Amino acid sequence: MANDAPYPWQHEQWAQMSQSAANSRLHHATLISGQAGVGKRDFAAMMAKLLLCLEFPAQQPCGQCARCQLMQAGTHPDFTVVDWLDKATVISVDQIRKLSSQLQLTATYGPYRIAIINRADSMTAAACNSLLKTLEEPPGSCALILLSERDAALPATIHSRCQRILMPAPDSQSAIGWLQQQEIAEAEIALEFARGAPLLAATFARERDLPAIANIREQWRQFLVGEKSPAALAAESANLLDTRESLTLFMQWTTDLVKNVEFSLADGRSSSEGARIERKFFSQALQLLQQSLRFDNASLKTLAVLEGVLADIRIQRIRTRAENSA
Ligand SMILES: [Zn+2]
Repeated sequence: MANDAPYPWQHEQWAQMSQSAANSRLHHATLISGQAGVGKRDFAAMMAKLLLCLEFPAQQPCGQCARCQLMQAGTHPDFTVVDWLDKATVISVDQIRKLSSQLQLTATYGPYRIAIINRADSMTAAACNSLLKTLEEPPGSCALILLSERDAALPATIHSRCQRILMPAPDSQSAIGWLQQQEIAEAEIALEFARGAPLLAATFARERDLPAIANIREQWRQFLVGEKSPAALAAESANLLDTRESLTLFMQWTTDLVKNVEFSLADGRSSSEGARIERKFFSQALQLLQQSLRFDNASLKTLAVLEGVLADIRIQRIRTRAENSA
């Protein structure tokens, strides 16, 4: 059987989705969840192409018909992608209102109007509410595809109206194999930074200075234990990574540290009050990073955003320790 999904690790999800679609059991809204770099966008784009292809129902888009050609040219009138505008880091209510009114229109070619909402987890609260109205009373012939890395950031009311497709990263052996096929030299270290996500690993390996990012990770650890100043870390990170990358990596690295503390508490290696305070502080730091990530930082320089959030985290550290020693 041909491997019809965009990537080899998506085969099962693709088979299920195309089967549902062929049997007209596809929900009007699909939520594709998975970490960055596992190929959600390519999956969604190919899914849209499949649903609009003149050969549908089929296992995959034909790539030849007039509709497939419109999709390839990016000019299909029934297909829309919503994503961050310019330097925004949120999807605004205006974008969702515009989308909703587009979806009300009859499809030019039919059978569907299809919209992909990239980074749906970055919709503002007002945007979520606006989308909810569309999800509650969906126009007859529309298919919405939401992509999300952090499902917890989406309200339960949206979850409950979407059919979910989980898109996990492949096991590391398959991921490394795939990266080597793409001629990525430092496959293993790149994959570590990308937390197992092959596409992100490929981008990292091609575009980034991996040893320098490893150094930032070490400095982040030092910062959390109070050995590195917020300003110095902010400056070094802003040199290498943009706002979202910095905040996302800080969150990943902190989550790893929380896990370490939990393991050491669970297996009795550490039962001290100190470890519990540390864990409490790490989760407060995570909350501050999360807030900063959700805040519309578009007009601020990365350095200013990082300085702000790192100073807040440092104050939180002092406060937590003071409360617990009182
Ligand atoms: Zn086609």
